[in-house]
Amino acid sequence: MSREQRSRCMSHVRSVNTKPELIVRRWLWSRGYRYRKNCRRLPGTPDIVLRRYGVAIFIHGCFWHGHEPHFRMPKTNVDFWESKIRRNQERDNRNKEALKAMGWSVLTVWECQLKPDVRRQTLLEIEGFINQSYLVRHGDKAQSKFSYSTDEETLFAAAEPEGELYQG
Ligand SMILES: [Zn+2]
Repeated sequence: MSREQRSRCMSHVRSVNTKPELIVRRWLWSRGYRYRKNCRRLPGTPDIVLRRYGVAIFIHGCFWHGHEPHFRMPKTNVDFWESKIRRNQERDNRNKEALKAMGWSVLTVWECQLKPDVRRQTLLEIEGFINQSYLVRHGDKAQSKFSYSTDEETLFAAAEPEGELYQG
């Protein structure tokens, strides 16, 4: 592949990889969760942040973030890709640790976990993770989660929901 072809190909991969975020956001929205997206004030700019649950979620493309089970190294420029993906993984780990040190519960969701045959299970697990985090944080005050709130998540949510559905 020429440089231009590769760059075109990879930008396609990148744009496809953003769509799994929509699956998760739309699901959370439909379940009544309110969140911020692409929160730049936090390490690594988490894709979804649920502040009152103390949860930061990253949705990672299996190629760019080197998901071991099916990461396939391109056949050309192996050195380039190896070091690129490794740097991404190292940065992911640093960001995750930094968030945990700040008291966040961090969840990484892989693109492959949102494919149609496993999607529902993954979404239920995400919800389980969020509620678990909330319980750990708030203990027996947990019933207050349904109280009305005008916090920034609620206000921010006015712009939702997002447009398109991911067509797996
Ligand atoms: Zn994967």
